[in-house]
Amino acid sequence: MTSYRYLIIGGGMTADAAARAIRETDPDGAVGLISAEPHPPYARPPLSKGLWKGDSDASIWRGTETAGVELRLGRRVTGIDPKRKTATDDRADVVGYEKLLIATGGTPRHLPLDAEQIIYFRTYDDYRRLRALANERLRFAVLGGGFIGTEVAAALRTVGRDVVMLVPEAGLGARVFPADLSQFLVGYYREQGVEVRTGEGLAGITPRAGKLAVTTTAGAELSVDVVVAGLGIQPNIDLAEQAGLRVDNGIVVDELLRAGSPDIFAAGDVANFFNPALGTRIRVEHEDNANTMGRHAGRNMAGAAVPYHHLPFFYSDLFALGYEAVGDLDPRLETLADWKEPFREGVIYYLKDGRVRGVLLWNVWSQVDAARQLIAERGPFTPRRLKSRLPA
Ligand SMILES: Cc1cc2nc3c(=O)[nH]c(=O)nc-3n(C[C@H](O)[C@H](O)[C@H](O)COP(=O)(O)OP(=O)(O)OC[C@H]3O[C@@H](n4cnc5c(N)ncnc54)[C@H](O)[C@@H]3O)c2cc1C
Repeated sequence: MTSYRYLIIGGGMTADAAARAIRETDPDGAVGLISAEPHPPYARPPLSKGLWKGDSDASIWRGTETAGVELRLGRRVTGIDPKRKTATDDRADVVGYEKLLIATGGTPRHLPLDAEQIIYFRTYDDYRRLRALANERLRFAVLGGGFIGTEVAAALRTVGRDVVMLVPEAGLGARVFPADLSQFLVGYYREQGVEVRTGEGLAGITPRAGKLAVTTTAGAELSVDVVVAGLGIQPNIDLAEQAGLRVDNGIVVDELLRAGSPDIFAAGDVANFFNPALGTRIRVEHEDNANTMGRHAGRNMAGAAVPYHHLPFFYSDLFALGYEAVGDLDPRLETLADWKEPFREGVIYYLKDGRVRGVLLWNVWSQVDAARQLIAERGPFTPRRLKSRLPA
């Protein structure tokens, strides 16, 4: 049986960051990484951004293999035995570990039907499939106006494709942006040539003469060639559940990122952790969290005891607009907008009981740390006091 001092399950950015941190902390211990994907770890954000604007595919690879890590690719772990300290993969190979990291991320929510022309956009292979289809003059339907839906629609439009978006909410990014900004984005996307159908979800899809007949909840029928579903992800918790670890909206970890056992850690999109600045448990599906939490997990696996208190930021690009954001962007909170130019450049604060819970930096850059500081402060904040803190 092959055994590693450190075993990582998952081949995403969290896994890569952990592997590197282990190597830096312990130059000698054997590190193994098992990933269901056939590729070594790579950055996911460029799949819906840079690669559509001319960046080369070669730019996404993380080079994990150069960090002295043994990669076991194209293998899915099917079970963990915490007592024997082993993991078994889908080829029935059993691997031993001293310290284990579960960095299994998430799986896109699927529609209750399967058709060849439906793409769930998560992996490099999904990108390659969509990119090949986007070379043809086809019509694309994008389901969902959230993070992936807005980015994929912009990417497809950037390469000149015909795109219709079905968005059940009243606007784009409606779960994070205040209503007026979310409405503005609808108009902005339409100006870029995207057909945006708000308040309209998917009622059915039927394959018809090589195309897909998409019926909407408003009763319209659209004929498209490809459907891209951006319906969010679900954390991959099965292994943790089966191993008897605590699961509650992700794998529950303590501040050292241990999943209820001194030898098993979890990090990244799959992990549910306590954030002191927000005073609550959160699960974050963003790059900064994957990188930083993965690094912390790796160091702690190799013997450090560094608590994870980081408040991650996230970002997105929407055609020529872009943002960075920190904290809880819940539009049901009280929001205060400080625009330098309405909807083009400014800062939006999300407040609760006079405290800042989240900050949206809309086309405003290099202010993430200042925003984190505001969230960590007790307040109370008046609009005047806030506006003097971050220049819009
Ligand atoms: C297209 C796209 C664009 C994005 N853009 C941004 C952005 O602009 N900004 C931002 O902040 N965030 C962005 N994100 C989110 C960010 O990429 C994720 O938060 C990050 O990839 C999470 O990393 P992870 O390693 O925790 O999980 P994942 O990336 O989901 O990796 C999990 C890995 O585990 C493997 N795995 C799962 N189960 C098993 C198993 N049983 N056995 C073996 N292997 C297994 C999977 O195959 C995968 O390789 C984007 C995501 C996508 C998909």
